[in-house]
Amino acid sequence: MSPSDLPPRESMEFDVVIVGAGPAGLAAAIRIKQLSPETSVVVMEKGSEVGAHILSGAVVDPIGIDKLLPEWRKESDTPFKTPVTDDRFYWLFKKAAIRVPNFLMPPLMSNHGNFVVSLGNVCRWLAKKAEALGVDVYPGFAAAEVLFDDKGAVMGVATGDMGVSKNGEHRSDFTRGVELRGKYTLFAEGARGSLSKQLIQRFGLAEGRDPQKFGLGLKEIWQVAPEKHKPGLVQHSFGWPLDNKTGGGSFLYHFEDNQVAVGFVVHLNYTNPYIAPFEEFQRFKQHPSVRPTFEGGKRICYGARAITEGGWQSVPKLVFPGGALVGCAAGFINLPRIKGSHNAILSGIQAAEHVAAALKSGRANDELTEYENSWRASEIGRDLKKVRNAKPFWSRFGTMIGLAFAGLDMWTNTFGFSLFGTLKHGKPDSKTLEPASKFMPIQYPKPDGVISFDKLSSVFLSNTNHEEDQPVHLIVAQPALQKASEHDIYAGPSARYCPAGVYEWVEEPTGPRFQINAQNCVHCKTCDIKDPNQNITWVPPEGGGGPNYPNM
Ligand SMILES: Cc1cc2nc3c(=O)[nH]c(=O)nc-3n(C[C@H](O)[C@H](O)[C@H](O)COP(=O)(O)OP(=O)(O)OC[C@H]3O[C@@H](n4cnc5c(N)ncnc54)[C@H](O)[C@@H]3O)c2cc1C
Ligand code: SF4
Repeated sequence: MSPSDLPPRESMEFDVVIVGAGPAGLAAAIRIKQLSPETSVVVMEKGSEVGAHILSGAVVDPIGIDKLLPEWRKESDTPFKTPVTDDRFYWLFKKAAIRVPNFLMPPLMSNHGNFVVSLGNVCRWLAKKAEALGVDVYPGFAAAEVLFDDKGAVMGVATGDMGVSKNGEHRSDFTRGVELRGKYTLFAEGARGSLSKQLIQRFGLAEGRDPQKFGLGLKEIWQVAPEKHKPGLVQHSFGWPLDNKTGGGSFLYHFEDNQVAVGFVVHLNYTNPYIAPFEEFQRFKQHPSVRPTFEGGKRICYGARAITEGGWQSVPKLVFPGGALVGCAAGFINLPRIKGSHNAILSGIQAAEHVAAALKSGRANDELTEYENSWRASEIGRDLKKVRNAKPFWSRFGTMIGLAFAGLDMWTNTFGFSLFGTLKHGKPDSKTLEPASKFMPIQYPKPDGVISFDKLSSVFLSNTNHEEDQPVHLIVAQPALQKASEHDIYAGPSARYCPAGVYEWVEEPTGPRFQINAQNCVHCKTCDIKDPNQNITWVPPEGGGGPNYPNM
């Protein structure tokens, strides 16, 4: 049935439509209501509840929350329960760990005054604040399509139709999507947002900017033995198990209730298609300086999510007629600090202030140029500019020399200058793989089921759930190209980069078949970023599907 034969979609009118109930979207919603209580604001969230799809470290710099809710420290029950008490950096070698003295670290890397949190719980708390101010928060609704008016301006979004079967037929529970129309629409979808990606292409927002860069972050939460728990201890490492050419590192944060968040980020500009970020993470936990923390403990949650790494050079133009990008949909991560939630909140606040001013003067569906023109001189720009060369140095010179240069540059930037100007990022991450014939397959150790695990038992701990009878939400544009290139040249890296075991090349008598276990997808977006031909597109499945993270 073609769309014109379908019954029309119902539509709802708001002043402001916000896509994504992460820190950026919720901060924007709250600020608009603080400034102008009569403005109608809706926030749509694809997770089954607010926080269900949020995965972060997280050590949060409170600069954003202090600005959004200055009274929060007076509240008795907030999700900011664990102040950082001890901040350590290690350089890992196979059998040793060398601590980098804190005085060598540029001051901007200090975590003093920050909090270890579950960002999912922060979002749940922010959503309550937003609702108390009168914001409509709709979890379980994925924005699947951008709506444009006849002049080409964005005028809202639509949810996908529900009740469509695997084969595209209408099931008995078929219902049409709903249109949510707004005078302004803010896209707060986080890293590699599916609608944000379309808008960046359609409006040429990335023109004149460096390509966006990404990492894949994998994370587990452990309940550890009480004697091993040191609330507020924050540890980062680089080096082993990654080789010098592959960027990335670990984080290990002790937070409330004897819980430890442990995670590993692999930069997605790696070249060797045999690298498996999930296996690197499992291997990392076996390091003699790391393993003891988890012995006698229990792993309670697993998940993965892409993180933007391009920073200052890669932030696209933020505005287009009718809307704007906020938070990690634009890529406001400070990579050396592995922090972006403070900038997500600050950008939500900034966009909201410009939206509120525009609405007040009777404007609608035009460009919020003031937001684009002001962020680089704001606290977000100041945060990102100082660290702009860290990622280019790391990519060019590898971990050992690259980080030495990055450290030097961050020190000089502390005093307001750089010896290197602004270095450029190289190619997009989809273009960095080299043919498999140049490498030997990597033999990763087998999981021991105590500290290290396999993918499927891990995905189980993400509580991922999708309606099975729905179209696959991972669209392979040209199946023949997938075989000729991804399989034949690169030896099927999707089976290794996907942290949820979604992709498999199944050898059959007729040849290899690309199998997509879409129901396992944890919505990390890595396939959309790393496929060497950009032949895989992630689109939102039915609303409410995906992981159900309790406190990631
Ligand atoms: C492994 C890892 C560790 C990190 N550690 C830290 C840290 O320690 N400190 C720190 O400050 N930052 C950290 N970050 C970065 C931080 O998590 C992000 O900067 C922050 O989450 C960005 O907020 P956001 O609101 O822009 O996007 P997100 O937090 O990604 O939220 C986006 C929301 O939008 C929803 N959504 C997306 N698309 C749609 C759609 N089409 N329809 C409806 N809903 C949609 C998603 O489900 C999600 O709930 C880390 C990130 C990762 C991946
Ligand atoms: S299918 Fe893609 S988005 Fe889903 S978990 Fe795998 S790599 Fe991530």
